[in-house]
Amino acid sequence: MMSKLPIEQYLKEAFKRNKSNQTHKDVHARAVELIRRCWAEDVFIIFTDGLRTNIDQAVLYGKGRKNYYYNGKNYSNPSAKVVTKAKPGTSMHNFGLALDFVTCDGFGKNIDWVVGKDWKRAAAIAKELGFSWGGDWKSFYDAPHIEYSRGYAASQIAAGKWPVLKSFKPIKLTDTEPIKKEEVDKLDFTSETTKSAVRDELQQAVDKKIIDGSWLDKFDEGTMTNGDYAGLKLIIAHRSVAKLK
Ligand SMILES: [Zn+2]
Repeated sequence: MMSKLPIEQYLKEAFKRNKSNQTHKDVHARAVELIRRCWAEDVFIIFTDGLRTNIDQAVLYGKGRKNYYYNGKNYSNPSAKVVTKAKPGTSMHNFGLALDFVTCDGFGKNIDWVVGKDWKRAAAIAKELGFSWGGDWKSFYDAPHIEYSRGYAASQIAAGKWPVLKSFKPIKLTDTEPIKKEEVDKLDFTSETTKSAVRDELQQAVDKKIIDGSWLDKFDEGTMTNGDYAGLKLIIAHRSVAKLK
């Protein structure tokens, strides 16, 4: 038995840094669940960052850059290493939808930045909970970073198109079953390109009165399932042919 803090105390350790306990409530619920599931497997992580104000982001963006100004103030810090490519207002952290984590011991101490087995296990659990992991990114590998953006780009969220975050019931600590099927079966996209292509397809079908407009609402709310979409594709194909005849 590995020595570790009791879970309630461990959770306090995990969320005490920066604004890691100030993310969107549904994101926070998932982050708590992530800590619980990891702890149950003796995989230990703490969060180093969560919500960031635009000023917080400017400070980070200034690292490793010369002549960087935000709202007239100089945030350049060229001697530091570049840590982000996201300007203020463009990071999922600025919307309370992202967290950064690091591995540690069972007391939330002795931080270890090496991306080892436990780190990857934590990332895998995070993905089961609906997060995307920065360690999967090709353009800017970001191993500490997880975000709950549901396929929305930061620019869309900044424009007021907030993702509809699904209600979420944490599992019991002893429950090792995978996340519920209805959660998994929701139509989901890993790329913004395919998502907008599907949306365009549905929009055209609505415009041509092939399908009801409520389907587009369902799509936008994130409540459309894979089954719904498979059925719609059939209907669209059949009725499009019927209209041509
Ligand atoms: Zn991050």
